[in-house]
Amino acid sequence: MATLKEQIEDRLREYDHWATRRRYGAEGPNNRRLWVLACMDERLPVDEALGIRVDTPAGAGDAHCFRNAGGIVTDDAIRSAMLTCNFFGTEEIVIVQHTQCGMLSANAVDLEAALKKKGVDTDNLTLDPTLPELKLERGAFAKWIGMMDDVDETCMRTIAAFRNHPLIPQHVVVSGWIWEVETRRLRAPTKEAEKRARTDVRAVQFGVKGKQPARWA
Ligand SMILES: [Zn+2]
Repeated sequence: MATLKEQIEDRLREYDHWATRRRYGAEGPNNRRLWVLACMDERLPVDEALGIRVDTPAGAGDAHCFRNAGGIVTDDAIRSAMLTCNFFGTEEIVIVQHTQCGMLSANAVDLEAALKKKGVDTDNLTLDPTLPELKLERGAFAKWIGMMDDVDETCMRTIAAFRNHPLIPQHVVVSGWIWEVETRRLRAPTKEAEKRARTDVRAVQFGVKGKQPARWA
């Protein structure tokens, strides 16, 4: 049996390796070699939904987690996934979107109009002040907001976008899931009405009129 002295020495060595993980690149991955993309919504508990512990306790940490409005494909989501999958040893992507999402609650065209009313020139914006090269074409702002018509459909398309993106290595396993806020359980994205019953998954259920500007076109 190891002495306490040896156990403490092991523990300190392990902790040091954990604390300095990132300098080992692909040899210092997070515990599950996992990148999670999730909506920023406070009713989506990522750890509970996936049965993991994203960033605690010390010495552990199951995943790199990226959250944005909707848990959708954006240039920064792609950037983050590219880094973790190519350089930090990540081999799996899990996407979590959810019912009752705020991204279903309005039409992006109306949101753009509201910003214009506040004096924002949505056709001439610096999106990222540190990268003025990153530009939207004229008329693309509402599309950029990324509101959804249907969360299950968006989730399926998000999965496909990461599977097919040239910056994500082919061997990376990609899956996507819907967290039902109403029932507090996880399910696969589906088009079957029966499986979506009693949950709000479409913008029309929020009273939104008209289709969203087509981000996927
Ligand atoms: Zn959401």
